[in-house]
Amino acid sequence: MENGKCGCEAETVDESIENVPEENNKCGCGAESIDESHIVNPSKPKIIVEEDYIEKFENYAHSIGIKSIGYTQVPCELINTGNSIMYPNAIVLTMEMDKKIIDTAPGQESQKLNDSAYEELGKKTYMLSDYLRENGFATQAAHPYDSLVKFSPLAQKASLGGIGKSGLLITPELGPRQKISAIFVNIENLPIKKDDEHSWIEDYCDKCGKCIQACPEKAMIEKKYPNKPNETEFNAKLCIGCSDGCTYCIEECLFDQKEYTHIKNRFDKMNAKLMEQNLKNQ
Ligand code: SF4
Ligand code: SF4
Repeated sequence: MENGKCGCEAETVDESIENVPEENNKCGCGAESIDESHIVNPSKPKIIVEEDYIEKFENYAHSIGIKSIGYTQVPCELINTGNSIMYPNAIVLTMEMDKKIIDTAPGQESQKLNDSAYEELGKKTYMLSDYLRENGFATQAAHPYDSLVKFSPLAQKASLGGIGKSGLLITPELGPRQKISAIFVNIENLPIKKDDEHSWIEDYCDKCGKCIQACPEKAMIEKKYPNKPNETEFNAKLCIGCSDGCTYCIEECLFDQKEYTHIKNRFDKMNAKLMEQNLKNQ
C-alpha cells in the first residue's frame, strides 16, 4: 500500500497484562517522543530500492552505532491498540544498551542511563529516516519510546532474534541487552528473510526460567499446563523497569553472559544426547 495508512482496525484489549512483555513496553512510562526529522517526505516517493543502496544504508546505520538491521512486513496484530502506521513495511533497528545500565541497576542512575539510551536510539532512527527521505523514499520513524508497535515481536519477525521467556528480544549480537526502533517505509523490495533461525530460543527458555525467578516484583508468572507449552504472563503494573531502572531479568539471562553460538551449540548437543538416549530406551 503506497502512502496509505495500514488499514488494520486493532481491537481494544486490556494491555495491563500481556503474554508478550517487552522492555520498552513494560510499564508504559516512556516519555513522549518529538519528531526530530529534518527532511520532509518526498512528494513522489520511490518504491523500489537498489541492492547497493541497501548496502550503503546498512553501512551508514552501522557507522552511527546501529547493531543489527532487519526487514519485515508489519502484521496488524503487532500494531498497538488505537494506533496506525503510514507504510506497511518496516526496517527494524537495534542498539546496544550499555553494560553500565545493567551494572548500576536498579536505581536512579541506571534509569537515567536507560532513558538516555532510548533518546540516543531515537536520534539515530530519525537520522536514518532522513537519510532514506533524502534518497527519495517515504518514511515514518518509530522512536523506541513510541507505542505504535510491539517492537520485540516485530524484531523477531524481521529475523533479528527470538523472544525469550522474559519477553525481551534475544539476538546473536547482544543477547537481551538492546533497544529497538523501526522505520516504516513503502519500499516494496526490502530484503525480507523468510526463515526463523532463532525459534530454538523458546525451547531453551522452557528449560531455563531464570528471569522469572530473578524478578523481585513477581511481574512475570509462569502458567503450567499438562498438555501444552508453559505460558508466561507479564503484569506491567508490577514491573519497575522504567520507574526504578530494574534490569534483573536481563542480568540473569544466560544470553547476557555467554555467546549466543556457544549456548546454541551446547543446547544442540544436549538435545542430540537426549534423543540418542530415548532411542536406546525404546
Ligand atoms: S526483573 Fe525487573 S525489569 Fe524484569 S520484569 Fe521484573 S521488575 Fe520488570
Ligand atoms: S533467563 Fe532463561 S528463560 Fe529467561 S529469557 Fe533468558 S534464557 Fe530465557
